[in-house]
Amino acid sequence: MKLRQARHWVFDMDGTLTVAVHDFAAIRRALNIPAEDDILHHLAALPDDEAAAKHAWLLEHERELAIGSQAAPGAVALVRELHERGCRLGILTRNAHELALLTLGAIGLGDCFASCDVIGRGEAPPKPDPSGLLHLAGQWGVAPGELVMVGDYRFDLDCARAAGAFGVLVNLPENPWPELADAFARDCGELLGML
Ligand SMILES: [Mg+2]
Repeated sequence: MKLRQARHWVFDMDGTLTVAVHDFAAIRRALNIPAEDDILHHLAALPDDEAAAKHAWLLEHERELAIGSQAAPGAVALVRELHERGCRLGILTRNAHELALLTLGAIGLGDCFASCDVIGRGEAPPKPDPSGLLHLAGQWGVAPGELVMVGDYRFDLDCARAAGAFGVLVNLPENPWPELADAFARDCGELLGML
């Protein structure tokens, strides 16, 4: 795929469009989740009331983070440029849908994404499961191979690979997963320069 010609872009949110602020160690301590466990998988395995209470705590904690969100370097310029070019833009995040909308508004990108194209943890199984990407491809009426998935973590790349999409890694000083990333840019500004 030629990135410059890509018309369908999906972004991870936390750490990709925003500066990463989640302190996952503190969240695990507050919710009594072992350090080696995946937070969402751990909560999913709990009895219903305990899971509901911990999900509520997590949502409240994340709401405060969402309101104070800051854009990652180059992220606003990149998304605005793609929006102006008429590209379809989506979000695939392990955050909650309503918090993703709040976050996008806080960094000034609320008008660039249709609400139905913001896929949170309630709308699809969490990455690296590719369902969210496949859902967006279906919604947009394109083959998954037409999608670019931009993220800052290996789950984003695994998800892209599993869906057959083009995976771009950003926001790391160098690429620790060259076998998984189809392209790498140090930040969204550098990615914009490649388009
Ligand atoms: Mg991320």
